Amino acid sequence: MKLNGVDDYHVHTAVSIDCQESVEACCIRAVELGLDEIGFSNHVMLKLPDYFMTEDDLLDHYQQIKTCQKQFPSLIIRLAMELDYYSGMEDQIAALVKRYESLIGRKFDFIIGSVHYINGVFFSSSRRAPDLFAQASVAEIYCDYFDLLSKAVHTGIFDVIAHPDLIKKYTHQLHPPLDFDLYRASTERFITALLENGVAMEVNTKGLRISAKEIYPSRELLSLYVEKAIAEGVLPMITLGSDAHRAENIGMDFDRALQLIHQAGASCLTRFERRVAITTPLPAIDVVGSSS
Ligand SMILES: [Zn+2]
Ligand SMILES: [Zn+2]
Repeated sequence: MKLNGVDDYHVHTAVSIDCQESVEACCIRAVELGLDEIGFSNHVMLKLPDYFMTEDDLLDHYQQIKTCQKQFPSLIIRLAMELDYYSGMEDQIAALVKRYESLIGRKFDFIIGSVHYINGVFFSSSRRAPDLFAQASVAEIYCDYFDLLSKAVHTGIFDVIAHPDLIKKYTHQLHPPLDFDLYRASTERFITALLENGVAMEVNTKGLRISAKEIYPSRELLSLYVEKAIAEGVLPMITLGSDAHRAENIGMDFDRALQLIHQAGASCLTRFERRVAITTPLPAIDVVGSSS
């Protein structure tokens, strides 16, 4: 599969406990695939030290990126981070971005906002997720989750919201799939927040590799976002990410993601350079072939 005209904007390296990969190995894979751009987005979770790119990690990581920028001149390499949002910690989160940017003397290319924690539970962990569902109904939890995403968007700290319905990650193992109409109103508030603040929605293929076997976001959520953007006369802002923690997963299932984006009615993707959004046409589906 060749991925010309496409970017992978969600890639991890050996900074957090869940990844052993080097920047160089990821760039080699990106070039093999023909990607235009790769964006490195390591975890910064203020509540979980194992998932926290420290100042020293950042300096080392940035050095590796600069080396690879020279080594792979045909590939555009973006510096990003996957920064967790926690309600009530907005000042610390914003201060961290400022501190990190002053440390490296430049802006990040983009900052991905994530929510992996809700009501005090790290629900992205299979061990912890059941605790969440002991607290409230699935529908209530979904609504709380999307309301938290809306709050994250309104902070103005983030350029992209990652895996926008990550809450389904373990819900599918614990409960039957939830009818979209039961949490639709909260997704509408989230979409309005994205459109008002010019924040992009990520289409993340890692969902295909979990039990839900579905891209993040669902077809319903992505279609609703695109539909509302078009109705308001603005271009939908969509980035594409594999959430790869190994080089071999870079660009994985992007044919399916592009198809989903196309079917949702969008005709462009969004790139970022030093936190400025750039619109780029959605590549034709037949460019990428039919399998990964
Ligand atoms: Zn994540
Ligand atoms: Zn990630």
